Amino acid sequence: MSRLREHKMTTPTPETSVPEGEQPVATCPYCDRPFRRERLRDLHVGDVHEEWTEAEREAYEVAVEAESEDLFQYHLKVAGALGATYAVLFLLAVVGFSL
Ligand SMILES: [Zn+2]
Repeated sequence: MSRLREHKMTTPTPETSVPEGEQPVATCPYCDRPFRRERLRDLHVGDVHEEWTEAEREAYEVAVEAESEDLFQYHLKVAGALGATYAVLFLLAVVGFSL
């Protein structure tokens, strides 16, 4: 197997990249990069391109806000899953040691 093929098979496609044949939802007005979501485009414009307009700056701030909300919800889910696992293991231990 060639190294390139191996690389393609073992490297996961990032969620941000647009697969071939799929119509991109948004494109960067500066470098024409396609995006699957408008929020990703707004973040890209804010992070990579310096010469942004007032509207793009606002969109960037909204996108950053939404990203951090999503991240916070993800943290809550992870903490909840860990808490549930801990509770189940604790109950199993109580039942197991009382037999
Ligand atoms: Zn761009």
